[in-house]
Amino acid sequence: MGGGLVYEIKCPCGKSYIGETKKHLHERMQQHERVARGLTGYSAMGKHVLETGHKVEFFKSKVLCYERNELKRKFKEALILRSKQNLVESNSPSVDLLIFPCVEEL
Ligand SMILES: [Zn+2]
Repeated sequence: MGGGLVYEIKCPCGKSYIGETKKHLHERMQQHERVARGLTGYSAMGKHVLETGHKVEFFKSKVLCYERNELKRKFKEALILRSKQNLVESNSPSVDLLIFPCVEEL
């Protein structure tokens, strides 16, 4: 069984990060953790941790939904992002819902 999911990482400060990945959750969390330790790459969550020093338990992150279809997954991520408040800075969706006016019907 492959990956493909939308997930939420919660910071102790109350802010959330929503992301999607075609990988398994633990692989994606390892990537975020490496960013958060200042080792490699970029993620909005990693940046938040680097800037604030908050202690995020990446491996307690939860799967919000499974979706193997890439486009559907990115839509779901964008819809969930839009419905959430108190997100970490610069947590942006992979697709811009504005260019898909019919997305409300998904
Ligand atoms: Zn925080």
